[in-house]
Amino acid sequence: MRKTNNGKRRRNPAPYPAWEPGAGRDPGRIVKYVVPAICILTVLALFLSSEYRARYGTPTPGADTLSVMFIDVGQGDSELILCGGHSVLIDGGEAACGAKLVSMLRGLGVKKIDCVVATHPHADHIGGLIDVLENVAVGELLMPALTENNIPTTRVYERFLEAAAASGAKAVRAAPGDEYAYGEIRFTVLSPLFAEAADLNDMSVVLRMKYGGVSFLFTGDAGVEAENAMLETGADLSSDVLKVGHHGSRSAKSAAFYRAVSPRIAVVECGDGTEYHPHKETVGALVSIGAQVYRTDRDGTVVVTTDGSRISVTKEK
Ligand SMILES: [Zn+2]
Repeated sequence: MRKTNNGKRRRNPAPYPAWEPGAGRDPGRIVKYVVPAICILTVLALFLSSEYRARYGTPTPGADTLSVMFIDVGQGDSELILCGGHSVLIDGGEAACGAKLVSMLRGLGVKKIDCVVATHPHADHIGGLIDVLENVAVGELLMPALTENNIPTTRVYERFLEAAAASGAKAVRAAPGDEYAYGEIRFTVLSPLFAEAADLNDMSVVLRMKYGGVSFLFTGDAGVEAENAMLETGADLSSDVLKVGHHGSRSAKSAAFYRAVSPRIAVVECGDGTEYHPHKETVGALVSIGAQVYRTDRDGTVVVTTDGSRISVTKEK
């Protein structure tokens, strides 16, 4: 029980003189002050609610918006792009995430994915794609061209290749400069720029996507070598939204690259409690160039929606 003053009920001090029936009922005052105040407050409330919806409203995939879901797959990458009935899935996290992706795709009503991009054949990117390829129709499968030195011999890669062959998806090798369009989803391949690399991460397919005046950069696990190679090509890297390379590792953190991209929004896809991703200096470098940083380990799935000029971000957590 709440303690009262010597057992007596404590009365709130009256901040205003007690209202008495009949007092302050001057109709002139109501017309002069109350009615305009109500009007101003109503207009303000309507403005704020529409502004709020525009910036933070739940994105509804439709013909006039493009949504990118940076899916929380723990320590791994997966991004689903939806626009006007078309879809592109970039990576699928570890094999254990496959069921989650398939049920998410079904929930969203995605019956066919126009293009699946396997940025590079590491388990935290291609694992979950196995279930997707086995359960959802896929038009094209975009992958880096790999030489014998870079082709992995892992069981997950074998299973991925088996699922890809059985799916009937058309395999396409990513080459810099190539452009793809699926409805209004349009992107250009910027990397890999090497025939083979000492680090398989640097063979990641990197895509720049444009929708109206808004651009996105998806970097897979590309590291500093790949970043420098992209800078050397002189390609336009500037992007409003950056999928941060290699889960926010310092191995993908060329300051010059970040300056060239100059993102307003940066999304790090990383697992909860992982020891080294993202590195503090990576997040710090992004913040220092003015980017708002989102992390799937803290924010859950992050959804960026745009109408081609405005951008809204929603977080799962
Ligand atoms: Zn990775």
